[in-house]
Amino acid sequence: MKNGFFLSVISGFILFIGWLAYNTTYQDLSKQYSVHLSDKSQLFKSYLKGELDKVQLVADMLSRHPVLQNTLQTSLQPTSLEQTNLFLQSTNDRLKTADIFIMDRSGLTVAASNFNKDTNFIGKNYAFRPYFTQALTKQKGQFLAIGVTSKKLGFYVSRAIMLNGQTLGIVVVKIDLDQLHHLTQDLKGDFALMDNKNILFFSSNDNYTLKSIGTISAKDRLEITRTRQYPITRIVPIDIKSSTGNILDAKTVSIFGHRYLSQNTYIQETDWSILMFSPLMKIERTSLTNSILVSAVGFIIFIAFYTMYKRRIDNERLQTIVENLPSGVTLFDEDLKLLICNDKLKELLEFPDTLFQDRHTKLEDLLRYNAERGEYGEGDPIELTKQAMHRTQLRKDHVFERTRPNGTVLEVRGKWLRNAFVTTYTDITERKKAEEEAKRNASYLQALLQNLDQGVTVIDEKLNIVYWNKAFFKLLDLPDSLMKPVMKYDDLIRYNAKRGEYGPGDIEQHVQTRVQASLKFEPHHFERTRPDGRTLEVTGKPLKINGQSFGFITTYVDITEHKRMASRLREMANTDVLTELYNRRYFTTLLTREIKRCERTGHALSVLLLDLDHFKSVNDRFGHNIGDLTLKSFAKTCKGELRDIDIMGRLGGEEFGIYLPETGRDGAFILAERIREAIGKMELRDENDTPFHITVSIGVCVYDSMFDERMEDLIKRADKALYRAKSQGRNRVC
Ligand code: GH3
Ligand code: MG
Ligand code: MG
Repeated sequence: MKNGFFLSVISGFILFIGWLAYNTTYQDLSKQYSVHLSDKSQLFKSYLKGELDKVQLVADMLSRHPVLQNTLQTSLQPTSLEQTNLFLQSTNDRLKTADIFIMDRSGLTVAASNFNKDTNFIGKNYAFRPYFTQALTKQKGQFLAIGVTSKKLGFYVSRAIMLNGQTLGIVVVKIDLDQLHHLTQDLKGDFALMDNKNILFFSSNDNYTLKSIGTISAKDRLEITRTRQYPITRIVPIDIKSSTGNILDAKTVSIFGHRYLSQNTYIQETDWSILMFSPLMKIERTSLTNSILVSAVGFIIFIAFYTMYKRRIDNERLQTIVENLPSGVTLFDEDLKLLICNDKLKELLEFPDTLFQDRHTKLEDLLRYNAERGEYGEGDPIELTKQAMHRTQLRKDHVFERTRPNGTVLEVRGKWLRNAFVTTYTDITERKKAEEEAKRNASYLQALLQNLDQGVTVIDEKLNIVYWNKAFFKLLDLPDSLMKPVMKYDDLIRYNAKRGEYGPGDIEQHVQTRVQASLKFEPHHFERTRPDGRTLEVTGKPLKINGQSFGFITTYVDITEHKRMASRLREMANTDVLTELYNRRYFTTLLTREIKRCERTGHALSVLLLDLDHFKSVNDRFGHNIGDLTLKSFAKTCKGELRDIDIMGRLGGEEFGIYLPETGRDGAFILAERIREAIGKMELRDENDTPFHITVSIGVCVYDSMFDERMEDLIKRADKALYRAKSQGRNRVC
């Protein structure tokens, strides 16, 4: 917006001085040309007047000449006419007029200078010409016309030839106007002579000749016809215009569309005007050339100023930028003279201001100062400066770190531009310290991770495995050939898929699915049992900085042992240690579950409750150890009689429970009887290896879905049956 306005003003100004140059040149040249035209006109006028005066004089002389008086007086004798003709011819030749002839009082031509030509005037009557009547009435006359016989434009001057107060005849002297042409040859333009009827009767330009300015009045037309002055049919108005409308007084006119400077000079004696025209095109062209020249010069001056202004602004901007940089900056020209440097540079390198007071500080001055204060180490300062200069003059870009004597570390960068040399000095002491620290921390972390039993991988957002540890390779049993600085995640997946780690299926399909899933970078946690039976716990978590994912960390832990221990513990919690049967809690849990199943399916279910007979006496007789062994044997024998789906538990002391899924009353009694018999036959031995026997009482009950029984009710009913068996004498099934 601001620029547009500025450009408009400048363009306007340049146009204005162009216009001024045009106008000034135009005015000057117009004035010059006008003066020239007017000089020409005056010259032309005086020449014309001279010619006309000459004719008047010739006519005066001849009107009083005795030869002519005599000829007209002697009634036109042939011999005298012949003499007269010769006389007129020689006079005409000597005086360089066009024709001289004499007429009698009736207008008949009696003698003429052109008597011996085919187109001579003799015998012709020119009484219709005004010069004839004028001479008759006023002794003299003049007339401008195209010759009736000669067809040439001429100016006729007539005089009455008188003797003793009596008019004898008339002498006419004619001059041709053709010869006027040579006068205006050096006029770069056109001229025309105009008569009192505004007819251009003579002109340097054929296009103008016998044209009128404006239309001719009817009276004038009539007179022209009567006097046969001009061929009337040829006279039409010329195409001439002026801006003021008044053509004769206008300074500039346009003729047939071309523009001219115009000059009008009046000749009183003949009532004619001399019109002179000089083409404006030349003036206009010169003015335009001048205008363009001035504008161009103006434009060039403007561009020069503008460039200087821009450069100053650019320099100021550059200085501001440089001053606000966090680094020290210098800019040298091609000759390594300092152009720009900032305060940060002086501060970082501890340069005193005196170094920069000279307007033409050079790189060499700074280098020498450095060498002298030992900045480049031990050595001859002059030699050191020379070496540093030499390095710069190689014009190679460079980056290096320099530790200053005060311990600060600078990063020095030098860059050659086309015709300038830029250096930057950045204080990287802190950065170096931080880098060292980061490096040390990274090696701690590295050591830690490499010594972990857990496998660890880090995948970047392009699915490159950018980090892994030894445990990862060991746990997944990966070959060393996969161990590259940056592994491709899909290579790993492909390798695993090929060795069946993900089960059967198309290998590339496996790769595709897992790569797609991983690209979501969603946290995950799962256990994977490898083909060798070991179980890995795999946990993946996205790595985020400010909520933005940039990778994924995965850990692999071998939980095979852990899983085994857990299942063992679970088993122990549910088992009776002595008999290795389910304990009461677990047995009742399983039974409750089975009852629920029966409710749904309507299957049958039977429960047996077993209690050893007089077991107290076994303990009493053989001791507690034998009692324990007896309980173990009892459990084993019972189990030998059961199906896989039958479940037995130790409910407490020497009391046991068995439930038989999908078994009705008959089946239950048969099995209970079989157990009772097997126990009765079981041979047990005491510490002295003496055999003894035991018996068991068994209560049977069958689950009845009609009563919607609970586990406790079922056990209670079996207990009642057992009580009956005991009370009916033991070693029986009830
Ligand atoms: P009955 O059932 O026929 O009426 O007679 P009983 O002698 O078996 O009577 P009771 O059921 O009252 O006694 C159970 C005995 O079993 C009491 C206890 O000494 C013994 N006993 C319980 N648990 C164990 C055990 O874990 N080991 C041994 N050795 N004996 C046990
Ligand atoms: Mg008991
Ligand atoms: Mg008992």
